[in-house]
Amino acid sequence: MNIVILLGAPGSGKGTVAGALAAAHDNLKHVSSGDLLRGAVAKGTEAGKQAKSYMESGNLVPDALIATMIKDVVAETTGDVTMLLDGFPRNLAQAEILAEMGTPVKSAVLIDVPDEIIQDRIAGRRTCPKCKAGYHVRNLPPKVEGVCDVCGEKLVVRKDDNPETVKDRLVVYHQQTEPLIAYYKDKGLLRTVDGTTGVENVAAAFLAAM
Ligand code: AMP
Repeated sequence: MNIVILLGAPGSGKGTVAGALAAAHDNLKHVSSGDLLRGAVAKGTEAGKQAKSYMESGNLVPDALIATMIKDVVAETTGDVTMLLDGFPRNLAQAEILAEMGTPVKSAVLIDVPDEIIQDRIAGRRTCPKCKAGYHVRNLPPKVEGVCDVCGEKLVVRKDDNPETVKDRLVVYHQQTEPLIAYYKDKGLLRTVDGTTGVENVAAAFLAAM
């Protein structure tokens, strides 16, 4: 097993690209820290109870809490698999925790999207609460408005996708997550793809870059 890290702002399309790639390739596994946390909140686990207020305000949950969840997923993943790690690490401390886990990091691929485009994308984002498929009202609409193409569930706006929380999430991204770009560049692992060219093109560029 090895790991490819997805870097990019909230709304850069990381999750959509990783989901599309994992659906098309048996040896790719998409692991989203945000989905793990939302799952824990929905189930009402102890970790979920602790994470909820941080998430709703757009802040990062404590490093140890999310690191434990990621360690569990890494431990249960075996064989010839590349894990597309989406949303973790989110700061330098988490990058060190990941390095200590010892699973080789093959590359860190930045999906590069300017902030102005990000704001518009998140405003139109719709998510399936059941199968986690992502849509956009204009750029990637479902076949039937408000309904998931994959499983037929009613689409929702994520609680932390409201404009005020999005602003806070972008501040957190620039302050805490962006330093990872230099961190992985120093290690010779950084690749960058243009995130503004549409899901299929970005996915193809990502696959070539990773
Ligand atoms: P995401 O779906 O990746 O945008 O994550 C949604 C929210 O979950 C974030 O705004 C954070 O509150 C929390 N979260 C996800 N991943 C992490 C992480 N690696 N470290 C801390 N908090 C995280």
